Amino acid sequence: MLRLKNNRAVFATVMLILALTLSANAAKKSAITTKNFSIVYSPANKSDAQLVVDYAEKALDRVSKDLGYEAPTGLSRIPIRVYSSRPDFVSGTGIDKDRLVVGRAWSGTEQIEIDASGTYAWVEQVTAHEITHVVIARILGIRASKLPLWANEGIARNESNEASSEDNDLVGDAISKGDYIPLSQIAKRFPSDDEQVSLAYAEATSFMRYLKTKHGMGTYKRLLSETAVSGNFDKAVERVTGSTLSALEKAWRKSVSKGFSASWLGRNLPTVVGALMAILCVLAYKAIKLRQRWNSAKWLIEDSDDGLDYGPPPE
Ligand SMILES: [Zn+2]
Repeated sequence: MLRLKNNRAVFATVMLILALTLSANAAKKSAITTKNFSIVYSPANKSDAQLVVDYAEKALDRVSKDLGYEAPTGLSRIPIRVYSSRPDFVSGTGIDKDRLVVGRAWSGTEQIEIDASGTYAWVEQVTAHEITHVVIARILGIRASKLPLWANEGIARNESNEASSEDNDLVGDAISKGDYIPLSQIAKRFPSDDEQVSLAYAEATSFMRYLKTKHGMGTYKRLLSETAVSGNFDKAVERVTGSTLSALEKAWRKSVSKGFSASWLGRNLPTVVGALMAILCVLAYKAIKLRQRWNSAKWLIEDSDDGLDYGPPPE
């Protein structure tokens, strides 16, 4: 019995040491320091961190040029925490596991957190998106809250090349169904419902792309510098575009709706072709059946004729 007890004690001790070693390894972090970033990652996932390093420096350079930002000397590095798996990202950030969040950027500390698993989004795009938020915050400084959330997200999505024609389709569809969310309602926060939040991002992305297409590549840069000076985004829009925000929103909605209706046939072509084929099949089947019936009837008549035509009765 004693021996058994001793064995149990040894086993328990070994398991405890193993558990402590594993948790120590899990909590262990490594870091890569570059010119502008300090990237923290789990030691086993250095390749993911290395990828983010490359993406981050390139994105910071490009986004800074696009948005007219020049970093003053002596600024601290932007900290990025790289999570290599979706469960690590969820547990490390504490986000709701059902929410499709793939990155975060904190104001103040400028801390960026990235889901580098690629489960829901390209790591390159997530990195560029969050870095854009940091650059915008640096440009605006104490005026950061004056920029509507939809403008912030719209710029980040366009700068990270996440914008696509799907945004316009989503917005066009929402307008046609009466589900459109006015921009004024997503200026401070986005809805929490998954479908609504997708629409809010699509609206933000589509509208900011519309502004850039209509008023030139330097639109974001001018909008941000005007907002940083006046602290009034609506006035910044008027100075940069010559139109009021509500007039621009109206014109953009009109152009999206027009494009949505024009591309209806294109989007529904497979369905339309399928429906036509089905109708043609039914018609062909009916035609065959009709012909068969007509032929049967003809035979019947011929048979009847044969049967009825006895000729004149014999004299
Ligand atoms: Zn964002």
